[in-house]
Amino acid sequence: MLAGRLFTRAVFLSLEKACLLGRRGGHELLELLYPPNCPGCGAPIDDSSDQLCPACWQQLRQISPGLYCTMCGHNSGPYALIDGRCHRCQNRRPAVTRVLRVGPYQDVLRELILAFKFRRQSQLDGFLGRLLAAVIIGDDQLRRAHLLVPVPLHWRRRWARRYDQSELLARAVRKELERQNLPVPISFDLVRLRHTPPQTSMALSHRLINLKGAFGVRPDVDFHGKHLCLIDDVTTTGTTLRVAAQTLKKAGAERISAAVLAVAAND
Ligand SMILES: [Zn+2]
Ligand SMILES: [Zn+2]
Repeated sequence: MLAGRLFTRAVFLSLEKACLLGRRGGHELLELLYPPNCPGCGAPIDDSSDQLCPACWQQLRQISPGLYCTMCGHNSGPYALIDGRCHRCQNRRPAVTRVLRVGPYQDVLRELILAFKFRRQSQLDGFLGRLLAAVIIGDDQLRRAHLLVPVPLHWRRRWARRYDQSELLARAVRKELERQNLPVPISFDLVRLRHTPPQTSMALSHRLINLKGAFGVRPDVDFHGKHLCLIDDVTTTGTTLRVAAQTLKKAGAERISAAVLAVAAND
């Protein structure tokens, strides 16, 4: 786990360095006309290849990934984890046995996710994908997953938004894993059968009811013996991941983990 965190931190530093070194003259005129803004805070940045302003880089390094429970993904104190789990998870046998994150859903990470999700800043796909890939590569268990499985949107929401952020994220993660000699294919066989209202303001019990029967697996897909890694942008109570995982288990999956950009506090 510690090695994973050090690796993630090393990736932040190398990304920052690569961005600084990657300045090319071809963008100069365009940037003179349309100075780029930092997707984290909106401040003008000198060069779009930096991706973030120095203050946001600094903040991202400070918040990521933080001390957290690897079973539910929520923040935890330094002495409150036993075998990487918080007290709530000590006796749980959840459908998703491992939840790893880039960081808590706050500050610059929250702003980047909102920009990626609702304002379609396409340059963020690769950036966030590389951060999430670093989390997977840095973990002994997740890097052995057989397939990446994005948590899909229903077609109606996808149509309204014009893209599915988990799918984009999974594609960017796969690309980065391949670049790092760790090819993990994506399965698009988990589908959203039902359009459900957003869960954000619902109590936990309502979230479960809201998502009942929401997912399915395409016919003739066999996940027997497979370790699947769900990919999503944000999780709060973990209900969506759990319901998706239960559906995948019914299709034979042996083990389900999840890699998410951020975990939001659920209080
Ligand atoms: Zn910024
Ligand atoms: Zn926990």
